[in-house]
Amino acid sequence: MNLILFGPPGAGKGTQSAFLVSRNNMRQISTGDLFREAMSKQTALGKRAKEFVDAGKLVPDEVVIGMVDEVLEKLNGQSFILDGFPRTVPQAEALAALLQKRNLSIGRVIFLEVPRSELLKRLTGRRICTKCGSVYHVESKPTKTAGICDACGGEVVQRKDDKEDVIQTRLEAYDKSTAPVKDFYKKTGQSVEVDGTGEAEDVFSRIRSQIG
Ligand code: AMP
Repeated sequence: MNLILFGPPGAGKGTQSAFLVSRNNMRQISTGDLFREAMSKQTALGKRAKEFVDAGKLVPDEVVIGMVDEVLEKLNGQSFILDGFPRTVPQAEALAALLQKRNLSIGRVIFLEVPRSELLKRLTGRRICTKCGSVYHVESKPTKTAGICDACGGEVVQRKDDKEDVIQTRLEAYDKSTAPVKDFYKKTGQSVEVDGTGEAEDVFSRIRSQIG
């Protein structure tokens, strides 16, 4: 089954995608990760996306849709999880067309529900390994050695767009452009709401009970 993990920044989409990938042999398609990778490699796509990502603004729809189209093209039948896409109604409409032309479909759209105060705590304290992408939190999941990844020894840093002023811009973009995508999927009848608070493993159990 193909899934969409939907929720505001900090809702745990990346963490839950990682669980699904490791336990179900699914492919994670995180548009945020793809942009960060392209930016670190300084590809044409990365250069185009950088000004938007660094400012916490949404990358233009046509750029994101083109990138997702290329990834879907190379899937070879593997089930996938969309993490961070679609983030606007035009993206959701474009996705429907991209899937239809490949005879693919989405089984469930999972809305991760987390209160705004909790999102802010999660985002301001979040730290990321620059090498393997492991996610830490200064309070709830600190690294054993400051600034060094427990998993691979890489450097652990704060994402530029996890600084407080940029977080505000990202949450505003969510309210204005992304929240309406919820109604889009409520109408299709594929969506389920999952409580995204508490331990990540518990959230994962809730997701699992929804997808069987
Ligand atoms: P994320 O890691 O999902 O929080 O995404 C980080 C940043 O990448 C966002 O703040 C946007 O600038 C950009 N981005 C990721 N996915 C999308 C998307 N579907 N549409 C537009 N911009 C996106």
